[in-house]
Amino acid sequence: KKENNLIISLIKELPKDVSAVFYAKVNSADRRNSQGNHSGTHLLHEALRDVLGTHVEQKGSYVGPDYLRFDFSHFSKMNEEELALVEEKVNAKIKENIALQEFRNIPIQEALDKGAMALFGEKYGDNVRMIQFGSSKELCGGTHVKSTGEIGRFKLISEASAAAGIRRIEAVSGDKAQEYYQSLENQISELSQLLKSKDVLKSVEKLMEENHLLKVELDAFKKEKAKGEISDWKNAYEQKGDKQLLVKKTSLDAASVKDIVFELKREIPNSVTIILSDADGKPMITVGVSADLESNYQAGTIVKDLAKEIQGGGGGNPGFATAGGKNLDGLENAYQKALGL
Ligand SMILES: [Zn+2]
Repeated sequence: KKENNLIISLIKELPKDVSAVFYAKVNSADRRNSQGNHSGTHLLHEALRDVLGTHVEQKGSYVGPDYLRFDFSHFSKMNEEELALVEEKVNAKIKENIALQEFRNIPIQEALDKGAMALFGEKYGDNVRMIQFGSSKELCGGTHVKSTGEIGRFKLISEASAAAGIRRIEAVSGDKAQEYYQSLENQISELSQLLKSKDVLKSVEKLMEENHLLKVELDAFKKEKAKGEISDWKNAYEQKGDKQLLVKKTSLDAASVKDIVFELKREIPNSVTIILSDADGKPMITVGVSADLESNYQAGTIVKDLAKEIQGGGGGNPGFATAGGKNLDGLENAYQKALGL
């Protein structure tokens, strides 16, 4: 054997000279965190079966020093109460500081008789290792805490669907749970500075209320502006052949334009009203035909023809039609085309 003082911190492949002497060193901090997450996973498994029912079975699991992920059979999204109860149960077991009971190399039947949970579809040898924390008993080869108190704290981070009939929980424990709470506290502190208030919740509620009032006010202004437009537009109709024609460009929003066009087609006899709008950067054409002219002009046909200019489509009935499009620059062509109607 050759002497070799090389320390491999992370083993990814076999060394070239496998007969050399090596020093294996475990990262103790990572190992502790993995132990907490693995024992936490066992407690989580038991708590899920307690809260949701014994149909819960492990379908997949990741345990690392950073976090844990647990997939299990269950057919609906867990609600807030269920999640809170599961977390509470795991933390209660941590607080009880239940000592690890490790049964090495016992016959599988003996383990099953003791009540160990075996995973369906998993291959086990004749002899197995059983990990017990009080009422939690699992066949397991993983690394664990000596007693549940070492886990420190358990915090659920997310619950989501992993596949049909399978839910996925992610959680953290120990130092990582502490870091999680710390980052939440930092966020609240930043929010508090941003809002210049100690009571973040109250400030956000106030902002939302203010925002609502501003929206109401803005809507009122829009309506007021639209009213102003109506009286201008009423005076802008021109006699062309058998009809009163109005072609107008505006930046009013779609709902306001619709209201105005309905009012105009009702009030102006023998009228065709064509409004080209560009609200929020999107081209839109709205056409209204007064009832007495519907046999001569079809709003739907007019809008379809004009909409070609804005690469759009739409439709409606003989009296009213709209079309949205993709090409804002085409609105000018549509305008010229409409004037020639
Ligand atoms: Zn395990």
